[in-house]
Amino acid sequence: MKTGVPIIEIDASAGFCSGVNRAIKIIADSLEDGKPLFCLGDVVHNEAELQRLEKNGARFIDHSQLSETASRVFIRAHGEPPETYNKLTGLGTEVIDATCPVVLRLQQKIRIAAEKCLHEGRGKVVIFGKPGHPEVIGLLGQAPGKITLISTTEQARELEISGPVYLFAQTTASEDIYKEVADIITRKAILSGTEPSDVAVTSSICRQMSQRAPAIREFAAKHDVVIFVSGSASSNGKYLSGIAKEVNPHTYVVSGVNEIGDWFGDAASVGISGATSTPQWLMQAVATHIENLFTK
Ligand code: SF4
Repeated sequence: MKTGVPIIEIDASAGFCSGVNRAIKIIADSLEDGKPLFCLGDVVHNEAELQRLEKNGARFIDHSQLSETASRVFIRAHGEPPETYNKLTGLGTEVIDATCPVVLRLQQKIRIAAEKCLHEGRGKVVIFGKPGHPEVIGLLGQAPGKITLISTTEQARELEISGPVYLFAQTTASEDIYKEVADIITRKAILSGTEPSDVAVTSSICRQMSQRAPAIREFAAKHDVVIFVSGSASSNGKYLSGIAKEVNPHTYVVSGVNEIGDWFGDAASVGISGATSTPQWLMQAVATHIENLFTK
């Protein structure tokens, strides 16, 4: 047992965003009837939460496992391209759709912009996002082969522009880099003779995401030690824990209580934070574990 119990605070701004919370609730409600529920892809990038859902009856599958046997399929908050829905309709599968309303609106805007380009015979739809990310796959699928994906400012500089541009970002993209990308593309378009009014930059980064960066900065600065709880596959977790480490070098990333080390010394305060995919119960378990280190 250590002496001098530190103040332990769980970051009020950490944990599931509303889209993920809604998806988890839809799973819980759907499982109540005891029928099989096949979840297409990981609902959250958090192994502990996935194990909990599996224990409650959810089964996780990938696209290659879509068949008649997957009689009821759950679509996560990231959304899916129209192609997936068509496939599910063809298979006669019941669809439980938990696509986040924010993502749904973005998909619709992208589809409308791509249709406008097609109808007018000019213009370009550009998405700033991470290649291969499930949300990005769903966004690109709104107009297959007609959308340009970029993931860096270098790619923005190399983009060929000769007419109207419709720029969108993945909802979880970095706000700072998106601003840079938007500036580069706007300048390029105007230099190439495009009217400024023909450059449409949509602020599509989810506000729940953009507010997290300043919040973690403030939270990490006020504690002696920060424990950041996140699954290894969470890109949002890597991004936010990176900010916490910048502000507070005594930041440690763990995926669960068994990874917690002897890091507390004579710390007067310990802050516990997490990604948008980190469940509240896991941050609470970490808090209890640390408290026990000092009291048992
Ligand atoms: S981060 Fe925003 S857009 Fe993405 S699932 Fe959560 S609420 Fe929806």
